[in-house]
Amino acid sequence: MNRRRALLSIAPALLASALLPRAWATTVPRASPVPGGVARVRLGAAEPPPRASIGKDRVLVVRDGDEWIALVGIALAAKAGTKLKVEAERAGGALERFEIDVAPKQYAAQHLKVAPGQVDLSPEDLARYERERVHLAAVLKTFSDTAPATLAMLQPVPGPRSGTFGLRRYFNGQARSPHTGMDIAAPSGTPVSAANEGRVIDTGDYFFPGRTVVLDHGQGLLSLYSHLSAIEAKVGDAVAAGAPIGKVGATGRVTGPHLHFAVYLNTVAVDPALFLPD
Ligand SMILES: [Zn+2]
Repeated sequence: MNRRRALLSIAPALLASALLPRAWATTVPRASPVPGGVARVRLGAAEPPPRASIGKDRVLVVRDGDEWIALVGIALAAKAGTKLKVEAERAGGALERFEIDVAPKQYAAQHLKVAPGQVDLSPEDLARYERERVHLAAVLKTFSDTAPATLAMLQPVPGPRSGTFGLRRYFNGQARSPHTGMDIAAPSGTPVSAANEGRVIDTGDYFFPGRTVVLDHGQGLLSLYSHLSAIEAKVGDAVAAGAPIGKVGATGRVTGPHLHFAVYLNTVAVDPALFLPD
């Protein structure tokens, strides 16, 4: 065996024993500072970890090798070419400021023509939608201090992924909110499992998303599961990664059974694919 081959054969063993346990943050989520993406901000090695925030929202801080990094979710609505300001507060109160340059990313557009009036909600539905929007926005602001056990997630149901995160939707030429999750096609009744270890922070039956479960994985990393036919978790439950939380369905405003799977960081929806194995 030549020297190079010998080194190559040793490398995986070294990686497994020494590097992998602390190196996960460098690979998952796959970081890129685009709308709907996750930016990495290096915060230095000093202990204890700084407390980081963007605007009023706290940001996930993890140890990566010998330094702390902030993983910052970038809103789909963020404009390329703008700068996002991240503030890190050291123990003792010293403030450091960092900037994220938002890079461009073009998401596909979908234009739908529908009969006029078909997309307008009745006053009752509109009032319900508005109540639920406020409630869910409050749920998605959850920030618990415990760090996530891991940032790597499991695909919550087997099946083809749509790749439509970020899709810009237009009804009769009018912009609607972009698609904030990943759709996974699966038959009604397929068990849905928690993508990561966490705690159930919300369950409900909502107008657009239908039966929904929201999990808190720690430090503002949340996952959301919608259009369920059944919910098998209660608020306050601790769940392990892979534990059953419900069943695939077609509740809410959908055309057929599928799982809408969304991931949130510092209150904004980011591409779930960044956290899943390829
Ligand atoms: Zn969806």
